[in-house]
Amino acid sequence: SDHSLDYPSSPQTIDWSTHYPLFAGTGKRPEFADVGCGFGGLLIALAPLFPDTLMLGMEIRVQVSQYVQDRIAALRVTASTPDDSTGNSTTSSAYYQNVSIVRANAMKFLPNYFTKHSLSSLFFLFPDPHFKSRKHKARIISPTLLAEYAYVLRPGGIIYTITDVKDLHEWMKIHLTGFALFEPVDEATLRSEGKGPIVDAVYTSTEEGRKVERNGGDKWLACFRRIEVPRQ
Ligand code: SAM
Repeated sequence: SDHSLDYPSSPQTIDWSTHYPLFAGTGKRPEFADVGCGFGGLLIALAPLFPDTLMLGMEIRVQVSQYVQDRIAALRVTASTPDDSTGNSTTSSAYYQNVSIVRANAMKFLPNYFTKHSLSSLFFLFPDPHFKSRKHKARIISPTLLAEYAYVLRPGGIIYTITDVKDLHEWMKIHLTGFALFEPVDEATLRSEGKGPIVDAVYTSTEEGRKVERNGGDKWLACFRRIEVPRQ
């Protein structure tokens, strides 16, 4: 449970320079958030592709979030170690400086971390399905949470969801499509907008996604754009 966690009272109180020391003084804040990031595969795949974009994973499990923190710390060291053959520190010296993680219950505290319209991408990859209907309110996409997602996402920003559970896929589609501030956006459109590398990472980079692949399961993708003017 989250009683023992200390949450920032507002995003303004967060010192992002402890998360992203190389970006201290730039005024930058996270623009990508991976909700329930698990072992961090998505952000670690995306970090080198968007080296100037700050990214934050949120994970509720203590050991898992600690693992991701250690993983990022190790990657930062390795990536900045000079190449033995040349003795040069390569351009990779800044790799992984743009990725970090917090242990947090994202269902309760998202607006404590992100200011209004600060995110360009919000990821929900292979979220826990909570199969039984009395557990549906525990789902990470629920009617009450959509307003919060719309608040932290900037107009034009994208919610990416993927799951191997067809029923959960339909549930997320129904709720997101039914919310006036989101409109469905298909994979081809995202690719035509240059978001192909993000879509590819959504499909293949996470630990859960790889498990689904090993087991020969299906993957259902559904993406939504945060629009400026509510749909009628
Ligand atoms: N996205 C990762 C992936 O694709 O490999 C992990 C998927 S795993 C099935 C779901 C993760 O969400 C778990 O690591 C779980 O601890 C985390 N989680 C569940 N509820 C959460 C919440 N309210 N806030 C943050 N993380 C949560």
